[in-house]
Amino acid sequence: MKYRSTRGGMAPLSFSDILLEGLAPDGGLALPESLPVLTSATLESWRSLSYADLATEVLGLFIDDIPLDDLSRLTHAAYNSDVFPGAAMVPLKPLKKGVSLLGLSEGPTLAFKDMAMQFLGQVFEYVLEKRQATLNILGATSGDTGSAAEYALRGKGGVSVFMLSPHGRMSEFQRAQMYSLQDANIHNIALKGVFDECQDIVKALAGDLEFKSAYHLGAVNSINWARIAAQVVYYIWGWLRATSAPGQQVSFAVPSGNFGNILAGHIARQMGLPVRRLVLATNENNVLEEFFRTGIYRPRSAAQTHATSSPSMDISRASNFERFVFDLLDQDPARVRECWDQLAKTGEFDLSHLLPLFESRYGFVAGVSSHQDRLATIKSVYTETGVLIDPHTADGVKVAAAYVEEGIPMLVLETALPAKFGETIQEAIGQPAPVPVHLQSLASLPQRVEVMDCNVEQVRDYIVKHAPR
Ligand SMILES: *Cc1c(COP(=O)(O)O)cnc(C)c1O
Repeated sequence: MKYRSTRGGMAPLSFSDILLEGLAPDGGLALPESLPVLTSATLESWRSLSYADLATEVLGLFIDDIPLDDLSRLTHAAYNSDVFPGAAMVPLKPLKKGVSLLGLSEGPTLAFKDMAMQFLGQVFEYVLEKRQATLNILGATSGDTGSAAEYALRGKGGVSVFMLSPHGRMSEFQRAQMYSLQDANIHNIALKGVFDECQDIVKALAGDLEFKSAYHLGAVNSINWARIAAQVVYYIWGWLRATSAPGQQVSFAVPSGNFGNILAGHIARQMGLPVRRLVLATNENNVLEEFFRTGIYRPRSAAQTHATSSPSMDISRASNFERFVFDLLDQDPARVRECWDQLAKTGEFDLSHLLPLFESRYGFVAGVSSHQDRLATIKSVYTETGVLIDPHTADGVKVAAAYVEEGIPMLVLETALPAKFGETIQEAIGQPAPVPVHLQSLASLPQRVEVMDCNVEQVRDYIVKHAPR
């Protein structure tokens, strides 16, 4: 299988080639030249597989330059009970009639990003070793992505992580999670500024092409295709758990920010998974909901982006959205380029003439959830079922409610556990969220973090001193 760019300007590349790159050279995003097809016979033959074995089968459809035996070793190293210690790795938890949670947050950082990142860590190490190469991951995080990347890459050969975070602006739990890592290849740098300033420093250093190439800088952001492919696995897993016969339909509700998680659902549906609806939930930052309601895509500035109580969905532009637009525009790179040119010129583009297709052809519907909705949903789910959900998952449950249909299971993707967002849980139910036993001592562990001013040169010096070349 070869990969191409949404903007049409990339020679066909293999999986391992696109793995280590960020954007395609033409500014687009990598996609398979054609999607593998899931027949109902194939799906039925997968019903009894373990999660790791299912991952091998599914990822094997997207990766033809890693032998299947090796791939199987990587998926078993990523998806096992040491990494995902819960009773089931990806449990299906019934909430109420017709609605279940798909538990994606049983990994080390209690959020769904572990699902893809754990595989990414394994496959990075594998490909780097094959190529005798090294990579220095440089990133900025406001919480979830940075910690998932660090837990996936700690102790891995050939790769170091330099993660910038805003000093004093993450939750106590998130700080303890990241800064308590003592692995030599993990470098936490706390900058005296806000997230956007951290992001600007990453852009400045990665944009210095000479520095980038001398120090082998790479990224693990959500546009990485390997992350999307790894996420396709749990949509299939969820379908297999929620159905018992070929062709039965399921709907998924997805708390969304960068459009990475729900894009994997779209890919699974395009491959032939019997998905009725993909229900996109946003918080007050409703750029995507607005698009699915009006057909107009209008990203916001950082200043227009609200800080909400589902912070991992506080995005102003949806970095994976271009892959969906590519499909909407009949996979015509020229039309995709037109949209992004228009966006650069006017700050928006208008696909309202395609509005009728969003649901009828692609199954997409969308809704917004507010702070009050989150609190009310967390509380009512807790009182009615005894299950405590996190604020992001609550956005999903809230928006899903409008689309529940008789006879069609609605699976809400549980994108984080409540322990990560204790403050909002306290506000919703008047008591703190329980912390899993194995993490209760986290806050008392010694922390290792370098605190710096928001200064590109200081960060550069630190990388020069600490990066293996
Ligand atoms: C990252 C994240 C999201 C948003 O996922 P996207 O792939 O960016 O749409 C939702 N909830 C949680 C808890 C997250 O960490």
